[in-house]
Amino acid sequence: MKEPTLGNPQNTIAVLQKYNFVFQKKFGQNFLIDTHVLDKIIRSAEITKDDFVLEIGPGIGTMTQYLACAAGKVAAVEIDRALIPILADTLDGYDNVQVINEDVLKVDIAELAKRENDGKPIKVVANLPYYITTPIIMGLFENHVPMKSITVMVQKEVADRMQVGPGTKDYGALSLAVQYYAKPYIVANVPPNCFMPRPKVGSAVIRLERYEKPPVQVEDERLMFRIIRASFNQRRKTLANGLKNSPELSFTKEQIETAIEHLGKGASVRGEALTLEEFAALSNELSLIKE
Ligand code: SAM
Repeated sequence: MKEPTLGNPQNTIAVLQKYNFVFQKKFGQNFLIDTHVLDKIIRSAEITKDDFVLEIGPGIGTMTQYLACAAGKVAAVEIDRALIPILADTLDGYDNVQVINEDVLKVDIAELAKRENDGKPIKVVANLPYYITTPIIMGLFENHVPMKSITVMVQKEVADRMQVGPGTKDYGALSLAVQYYAKPYIVANVPPNCFMPRPKVGSAVIRLERYEKPPVQVEDERLMFRIIRASFNQRRKTLANGLKNSPELSFTKEQIETAIEHLGKGASVRGEALTLEEFAALSNELSLIKE
């Protein structure tokens, strides 16, 4: 396998100029130009030759080269057609990589894992397009893609939101959803000068280690997530009012107030004060009632 050639500003500029590449803002294109960051991502993802890695948005193939050297097989899904001939060039000689020219949100990843990795858990590693971070991550979890871990570069604020607990301003539906499926760990903060072009926001690498079994027992996952969404949709309202006013739920005022009381919480409690365990308990109690 060839040593990676990309990952520094000179070689990145040379590739971009050779193909007259024009950055597309709408695709969230900020390419990595720092080998230390690339090494750190690969190390923290703990990739071995037994791993099948899905990369989302390979760009010009910078991280893909590193992934190809570390993993058994790599599938890289890239939406921008203009990058496909570039990837053919930069990934020439990396025989364990397949490039898929698709919108990742339209790819059946569970099916891809089944086909390419016999349904065994895959690892997802990416410098994500920030404009679709949440749908990508929630899609992977909710569609039950067999996964060991997700190691991704995201906007710093989003990484913070994924790992905080109750009582902080960043705590919300994303924190609870991520922490239901995985154990989050922030690997590194990454400043804008590690990318070309420089993003306007700070970035962080976060590793989400998929639980084999969720940390709480939930009778009806869909109901719990409807309750969570309803609680945070109206942040300034009490939990009881948030649940009563939600078009997604149809429990009566009494049913909601009784369930909250059983949690040992006062009537004025807000959703942002509840832990994942408490949302699970609330949802389990309400799941016994026919809506
Ligand atoms: N991995 C490269 C790197 O680190 O240098 C590029 C990362 S860049 C932040 C995000 C990449 O995702 C871009 O190449 C962009 O074209 C691609 N992308 C954006 N939206 C996508 C989508 N819906 N499906 C697949 N790829 C997408």
